[in-house]
Amino acid sequence: MESPIAKNLKAITSRIETAARAAGRSTGSVDLLAISKTHPAEHIAPALAVGHRLFGENRVQEAAAKWPPLRALHPDVRLHLVGPLQTNKVRQAMTLFDVIETVDRPRLAEALAREMEKSGRSRDCLVEINAGLEPQKAGIAPADADSFITLCRRDYGLPVRGVMCIPPFGVDPAPHFALVREIATRNGLEVVSMGMSDDFETAIRYGATLVRVGTAIFGNRP
Ligand SMILES: *Cc1c(COP(=O)(O)O)cnc(C)c1O
Repeated sequence: MESPIAKNLKAITSRIETAARAAGRSTGSVDLLAISKTHPAEHIAPALAVGHRLFGENRVQEAAAKWPPLRALHPDVRLHLVGPLQTNKVRQAMTLFDVIETVDRPRLAEALAREMEKSGRSRDCLVEINAGLEPQKAGIAPADADSFITLCRRDYGLPVRGVMCIPPFGVDPAPHFALVREIATRNGLEVVSMGMSDDFETAIRYGATLVRVGTAIFGNRP
């Protein structure tokens, strides 16, 4: 019998394709990052079994406990960090993650650049935008985004591939998605990580290239 998680993955994939087509975009233009935070390896296994390889976690410690054995079985997994990163965890994060989606301050950009140089390894980076200017949320204010992206690329030589955002809860996310898409476009960035279980179709309409879906795949978090 097909596992509920495999079934959810298939359904979300089909909704992504429908939303992309409705937006006049190709069905391959949006990637699905399965957010497996708080879910044990047993819940991730069915997604791996049907060939899904793109996952996101929000905590370094949790990823360190869960992912090395799964990656040993599936070396082609790509893991994204979507939660806050402390500078003292940069080295560990770079051993676990392929993409750091939450570059949100100069000190972190500097620490990442230093570790990449020291280790000779590179990790794709996304700049997190605090689209709704929420004081409790991480991310660069939209007005400061261009100069921060330039700082990351030019001064620190970071491989910045795109932007990510978590819009304010309980309001129409569309204007926030549009704003973040604009930041990506005018900075020549390819990856736009936005949209979660409740709003990924809207995000696709506004130009997301990567949607981050947890609950709609794995169910409610324990
Ligand atoms: C948890 C999380 C998600 C997934 O949220 P769902 O509503 O469960 O789909 C996406 N992005 C980030 C940064 C998250 O922390």
